[in-house]
Amino acid sequence: MNITFSCPRCTQAARLHLAPSATQLTCPHCNSSIDFPPEALIEERVQRCLVCPSTDLFVRKDFPQRLGVGLVAVGILGSCIAWYFRLIAWTFGILFATALVDVVLYLIVGDALMCYRCQAQYRGAEGLDRHGNFNLETHERYRQASARERQMHTS
Ligand SMILES: [Zn+2]
Ligand SMILES: [Zn+2]
Repeated sequence: MNITFSCPRCTQAARLHLAPSATQLTCPHCNSSIDFPPEALIEERVQRCLVCPSTDLFVRKDFPQRLGVGLVAVGILGSCIAWYFRLIAWTFGILFATALVDVVLYLIVGDALMCYRCQAQYRGAEGLDRHGNFNLETHERYRQASARERQMHTS
């Protein structure tokens, strides 16, 4: 499985391959390592975030956001051009086709596990069923906590 996280020490984004028996993450930029207890990762099942000790993780579609935005832009542009030339069937055809591609992509892409607190992402992890989908309330809780933390540091 893979993990993408931002290193707590050098704050750079890092992507690592994790062996099922790993007990440590090593940042490829600054070489600092983060140890995690063996019970945090049991046979590719992430029990808690390996970067921060948070147990609040959520499952989301591993959809490349830029691709999604690009598709929508192409759809709108294409249908505008068709509309300009009074090609009504094409206008809706293009919109429909891009929406369809969007749906198909959504269905074929895998799931990724994400940490609410530090935004670490886990790909190829097992046992995602035990983690819920995105929950706005939990997200808000963490967002407010990190805002408070920042405030405390600056004042
Ligand atoms: Zn680092
Ligand atoms: Zn985390």
